[in-house]
Amino acid sequence: MLFNVIPRSRYLDILAEGQEGIVTFPTYIPGSYVIRELERNIIEIEGVRMSKNKFYVKSKFKYRIYTLSKDQREAISTRDYLFINPASVFPFQDINEKYCVQIETSWNIITPLKKEGNFYCGENYHEFADSPIEASPFLKEIKIDDLHSISTIDEIDISAIRKIVEEADKIIKPKEKYIFFFRRSDKNYGGIEHKNSSAIVVSWERKDLSELFAHEYFHRLNVKTLIPKDLVHNYEREIYTDLLWFAEGFTDYMALLISLRAGLDTPEEALRGILSSLYKLTFPGAKIMSLAESSYTTWIKYYRQDENFLNSSISYYNGGLSLAFYVDIKLTKNGKRIDEIFKRLPNRYSFSDIQGVLDKLGFYESDLVYSPARKILDSIKEEISLEFMDKDKPYYGIMLDNNKIRFVEDNSPADNAGLLPDDQIVAVNGINKPLEVKDEVNLTVLREGRLKDVKISSGRNPGHALRAKIDGKIAETIFGKNEVKAEYTSSIL
Ligand SMILES: [Zn+2]
Repeated sequence: MLFNVIPRSRYLDILAEGQEGIVTFPTYIPGSYVIRELERNIIEIEGVRMSKNKFYVKSKFKYRIYTLSKDQREAISTRDYLFINPASVFPFQDINEKYCVQIETSWNIITPLKKEGNFYCGENYHEFADSPIEASPFLKEIKIDDLHSISTIDEIDISAIRKIVEEADKIIKPKEKYIFFFRRSDKNYGGIEHKNSSAIVVSWERKDLSELFAHEYFHRLNVKTLIPKDLVHNYEREIYTDLLWFAEGFTDYMALLISLRAGLDTPEEALRGILSSLYKLTFPGAKIMSLAESSYTTWIKYYRQDENFLNSSISYYNGGLSLAFYVDIKLTKNGKRIDEIFKRLPNRYSFSDIQGVLDKLGFYESDLVYSPARKILDSIKEEISLEFMDKDKPYYGIMLDNNKIRFVEDNSPADNAGLLPDDQIVAVNGINKPLEVKDEVNLTVLREGRLKDVKISSGRNPGHALRAKIDGKIAETIFGKNEVKAEYTSSIL
């Protein structure tokens, strides 16, 4: 198919050319496992609607689509800026045919798509949809080295990113060019991986970008070259894999190692980063959910997180990072490193392929992926000095945000007293003062506009805040220091 795009403020006017027949607009963005329904942004289309995302069209048809999303996975069009993640804007017919786009603008255009005359092309829809397009009169391409560059309208210090890329490329060994699309925005977004690029949008406050860049860049290998066998995108219906803990969690751990090896994080910062993931395994959800289940349920749990997430679920990012750390400890003891896994996996892998690689590296435990994720934390506790700083101390089992309850831990005193997320604490023992953990207090809470008195007695904290100390061979091999200590405090009262 061919697309001719006329950018306007807030909209794109698109003239499309293909075969008379049905076109399909994607309902989700590969790499982000939630049905986004971006086809809802179609304002007008020349064709007959067949369903929410399918239209019967002539060989040439026009459509207008609303594009004002600051999300790096979507599209935005203003008087002086254009960013398109193609899966959010362009439909497909036959996925295997060639797709080309022409942008009607004199602005600078940067995209990994191949330039053919006035068009930018992908050999099939997968390649086309995986190649963002950025344009602006202010757009510049900042070279990191011969193979890597940053496409941006903002200023960015590339010295840290150069170190990340150098360190990551010792594992990735790339041959093709790569572009980081980078933009500052007013909300805290994140990144999305593509084969030869990534799109990163972050708020102005965010200063430390090394792990985010390392994460997206490492996806070039893990998920874009090494791909779970069952992760075959159809752009319309949810697809299920039990391996997102490896695709995302192990990528998170590698990003942490790359930042550490590049000298951008200290050993203490790296260990604290690991503790921040282990902390999530101290909540009730980790006693219920395995990493495999967390991967399968991403569409309805991880990407649809509610106030009860820590009681019901575990993030495959946190759980996967924790497991990667455990695997790295075990491999280190055998004189190997986690890096080996990425050298030995086949390009399309299953869980048994990962197991096979680990077996060859002398690692035999295999039930950490299908058992509740808490087992990973308990296994790590057997390998390093890891203690709960708050275990058995008095606690209620709530997290607060400006005196509003945002989380109630299952089976905690707060749960037993009937406190709910969203309850606004207006008085403690009749006085408007901050809540401190005492034996017993009377809380006055505002719930749905009604005042309620709730008596609550403190109980024993099951243990959330973590303190770790690592020394000897593990500390030297993984952290490059003979002793590393870190703490991660808990926000639960
Ligand atoms: Zn990722």
